[in-house]
Amino acid sequence: MQVIRTIAAFKAARRARAGSLGFVPTMGYLHQGHLALVRRCRAENDATAVSIFVNPTQFSPQEDLARYPRDEERDLRLLREVGTDLVFLPPPEEVYPPGFNTWVEVLGVTERLEGAHRPGHFRGVATVVAKLFNIVEPTRAYFGQKDAQQVVVIQKLVADLTMNLEVVVCPTVREPDGLAMSSRNVYLDPEQRRAALVLFRALELARTLYAGGERSADRIRARMTHLIQEEPRARIDYISLADPRTLGELSEIRGGVLVSLAVRIGATRLIDNVVLGVEQ
Ligand code: AMP
Repeated sequence: MQVIRTIAAFKAARRARAGSLGFVPTMGYLHQGHLALVRRCRAENDATAVSIFVNPTQFSPQEDLARYPRDEERDLRLLREVGTDLVFLPPPEEVYPPGFNTWVEVLGVTERLEGAHRPGHFRGVATVVAKLFNIVEPTRAYFGQKDAQQVVVIQKLVADLTMNLEVVVCPTVREPDGLAMSSRNVYLDPEQRRAALVLFRALELARTLYAGGERSADRIRARMTHLIQEEPRARIDYISLADPRTLGELSEIRGGVLVSLAVRIGATRLIDNVVLGVEQ
C-alpha cells in the first residue's frame, strides 16, 4: 500500500498503473461503512485508491472541523487489512494552496435539506470532489447512500461536467441495532447513543406506514415528527419526504420517495435516510 501526501507524487503513482482504478473519497476515522465501499471498489477494479481528507471548505465556521475525529494510524491499518493500493492523504495546503479561488457549485438539488441547513457545504463538497477526481483520475468512484443528497449532487456534477467516470452508490451500513455508522457517532455519550436510535426508528415507522399503503407524505412526516419529539434529547433539523431525483418535497407519494432526516442529539448532528418504492 502506497501512502502519498502530495498531488505530484499521487499523479505519478496513478500514471504508473494500467487498468481500472476505483476511488473511495473519505474524511477518515474509518468505520465499516467506509470499508464496505473499499471492499466493493476492490471487487470491481484492478486497483483501489482511498483519500483521507477532512475538507475544511465543507464545514461552516460554527461546525465541528477542529474537533472532527482523526486517527491516521488506525485508518491506515484498516485500509491495509482490507487491501488498498493507493492512499492519498494530503495536508490542507496541498489541496488549497495560497490563492486558491475556484469553486464548483451545483445549483438546484443543493438548495434543500442539508444544503438549506449547511450553507456552503455542497460548494465545498463539489469543489473538493472535482479536484480529487482530477488528481486520482478514477474509472469508478464509490459513495455511500448514507449521504443521500451528496450522492445526487455528485451524480449531477459528473453528468453536467461530462466527467469521465462512473459513480457507484453503496447501501448504508448500520450498527446491529440500526444506527447508521458515522464517524460522528463517537461524539455520543451512552445516553445520547441510546437516544440516537430515534432516527432509525422514525425511518422504520415510515417504512411500515408506506408498506401498509400510506401515500400521504404529510401524514408520514407528522407521525415521524411525533415519534422523534418523544425523545427529549433529540432536536429535529428537518424531516423530509422528497422525490429521490429532484429532491423536491412531496405531499403525496406517487413514485418512489427519499425519506431523510437530520436530528441533533445534544451537540451532535446526525443524518440518515431510506428510499421507499424504488428498486435500488
Ligand atoms: P465521510 O468520511 O463521512 O465523508 O464518508 C465517506 C464516504 O463513506 C461517503 O461516500 C459516505 O456516504 C460513505 N459512508 C459514510 N458512512 C456510511 C455508512 N454508514 N454506510 C455506507 N457508506 C457510508
